[in-house]
Amino acid sequence: MAAALGASGYDATDRAEEADMILLNTCHIREKAAEKVYSELGRLKALKLDNPDLRIGVAGCVAQAEGNEIMRRQPAVDLVVGPQAYHRLPEMARRAAAGDRVIDTEFPAEDKFDHLPRGPKMRRAPAAFLTVQEGCDKFCAFCVVPYTRGAEVSRPASRILAEARDLVERGVVEITLLGQNVNAYHGAGPDGDWSLARLIRELARVDGLERIRFTTSHPGDMADDLIEAIGSEARLMPYLHLPVQSGSDRILAAMNRKHTAESYIRLIERIRAARPDLMLSGDFIVGFPGETEADFADTMALVDEVVYGQAYSFKYSPRPGTPAAGKDPVPDVDKSDRLARLQALLGVQQRAAQDAMVGRVVQVLFERAGRREGQLVGKSEYLHAVHAICDVSSIGRILPVRITESAPNSLAGVLV
Ligand code: SAH
Ligand code: SF4
Repeated sequence: MAAALGASGYDATDRAEEADMILLNTCHIREKAAEKVYSELGRLKALKLDNPDLRIGVAGCVAQAEGNEIMRRQPAVDLVVGPQAYHRLPEMARRAAAGDRVIDTEFPAEDKFDHLPRGPKMRRAPAAFLTVQEGCDKFCAFCVVPYTRGAEVSRPASRILAEARDLVERGVVEITLLGQNVNAYHGAGPDGDWSLARLIRELARVDGLERIRFTTSHPGDMADDLIEAIGSEARLMPYLHLPVQSGSDRILAAMNRKHTAESYIRLIERIRAARPDLMLSGDFIVGFPGETEADFADTMALVDEVVYGQAYSFKYSPRPGTPAAGKDPVPDVDKSDRLARLQALLGVQQRAAQDAMVGRVVQVLFERAGRREGQLVGKSEYLHAVHAICDVSSIGRILPVRITESAPNSLAGVLV
């Protein structure tokens, strides 16, 4: 979006009061995220009093799902653009600047990635994201993604490789391959469709690209070749985000997850056999319609058995248009109580995984200055944030650090 606007003459600013255009990028995955958009818009519209030329836009999945409602509820909004129409932003911005209210939430036939302006060859931060696929065909009963982002589409491998080389030329050393269902990737290659594993193997040959990650995966798409790549590809980092959502087979079936607790546990065993030092991360939903205390106990048991180094957990949030939305809700007090218990358990595991790093030497990609004088912050191969005293010239380099301290959300250490 920044590149698209940059190509039509806009410069970036950190100060909202200076802006001619403010675009909110939004998330529709839970109600809380969507509601924040309206309160933020309420705040931003005051800026129009001082700057009548200011244009306010909403992008992302809330724009996609509620575009007309946004226009109705907040007259200060000039522009609404869904995720598949970002390449049309220059034209939309021009019309908005001329005084029109514009909305585009189409799923156009052309691929936005082919039409997005590239922007000038700017230096980039050492770690970057690269979208390889979008959309999802899984239709988990709680999830809006298949509706807001549409059917699963994989980008051609050649384009991803070209973009990766371009990022490396701009100073990027670590790329996280992104997709709503990234391990379902099956993009066209020169010799037929490539799997995610094949794509990773080719990316690992790009000179200067030291680290590769990918997110988010579905357990059902964890193919053998991908597990093999996790075990053998040195540039693929030993960190895997593999959401399970629940430990109850009854709830997993109601969620339409297409896996059981047992099949997930066996899968994790296979992945860990391939890569014993793997740091595992997951997502959990508590209070899905129909979830009983016994179902929740199954989730706690699964967490106990699997052991996570990192995790995200949420209260179930009914999303408009999804199959589970009309079902018998779990009372909010129960949801809150279960979430607190689950987060306590996950917190203990996360802390233990972090504390276990103390005394070890990890490889840190330094990304930026830390809060303290002379300190840099970077990421270990296990995605822990690591602080160390280090010269700024080391930003963008991967250096060995001996961990000396484990704080609540980060590690500290000394260069070896
Ligand atoms: N494609 C990924 C992630 C999708 S969204 C996957 O299949 O796991 C990220 C996370 O948000 C999900 O894993 C889920 O835990 C959570 N989430 C999605 N919809 C939700 C809802 N309606 N209520 C609460 N949490 C939700
Ligand atoms: Fe949503 Fe992920 Fe399920 Fe797709 S696989 S419907 S993105 S939770």
